[in-house]
Amino acid sequence: MLSIPRGNGTSGWQRDVENAPDDIGRPTNNLLRRLSASDFALIAPHLAHEEAKANDLLYNPGDDVEIVHFPCGPSLVSYMVASEDGRDVETILVGREGAVGGIVSEGFLPAYTRIMVKFGGPFVRLYVGKLNMAKSKSVTLRNVFARYADCMLAQMFQSTACNAIHSIEQRTAKWIISAMERTEGDDVLSLTHEQLAAMLGVGRSYASRVIQIFKAQGILETRRGSILVRNREALRNRACLCNESVKGHFEEVLRGAYPTEETPTALKSAQPRR
Ligand SMILES: [Zn+2]
Repeated sequence: MLSIPRGNGTSGWQRDVENAPDDIGRPTNNLLRRLSASDFALIAPHLAHEEAKANDLLYNPGDDVEIVHFPCGPSLVSYMVASEDGRDVETILVGREGAVGGIVSEGFLPAYTRIMVKFGGPFVRLYVGKLNMAKSKSVTLRNVFARYADCMLAQMFQSTACNAIHSIEQRTAKWIISAMERTEGDDVLSLTHEQLAAMLGVGRSYASRVIQIFKAQGILETRRGSILVRNREALRNRACLCNESVKGHFEEVLRGAYPTEETPTALKSAQPRR
């Protein structure tokens, strides 16, 4: 379980801001970069830096959701739903384009799914109460989070359709591309066959078979506990278009929220590479 110190943790956050490599002194999270300067100022004093490792749990079902976690840089989390036979099946991935925990609701909010860190790295956390206070002061800030909730819903709709109609091969390719985009275009992903099988909700042998097919076609190589992408274009051709559909909705819905001069430039460095 991820250790989350209590208190607002402001000093740690301020230290990060001073060392922030980006040009606007904000965490490398697109939602936070979407906010106008005045909206960001409402929450900035309450943001705290945290680091998480792969397989850390941010929430278990039933946990009281008190903290919003914003993945930064290459950090990536997934929403997992437990099946009746005890397996966890992944529903959606969230990286630096979003946040997890208490984004739209207020008051006591039990977590429905397990939220697990897939790729570790930096995060920024914010108490839900602080976020709600800021929302009550700013319609525009509330709007960004409402728009993000809409995007996340689209992601879930797409995921449901994807699981129903697309092949394991298509879904595997989609997952790898989607993860690569969120992890700054890195060609090496830390991923075992077991993890891939769990994410796809299939047996290990199915996942291994797909990996073998991709290896035989020169698309991937496997290394101990990781996958190396050799031919991105070919991988894209094997993937269904679900990731592209979701991405298009994100671009349309969130891009319109703050059409300021600063936003496109600021976001550019945080956009997943294509
Ligand atoms: Zn699909």
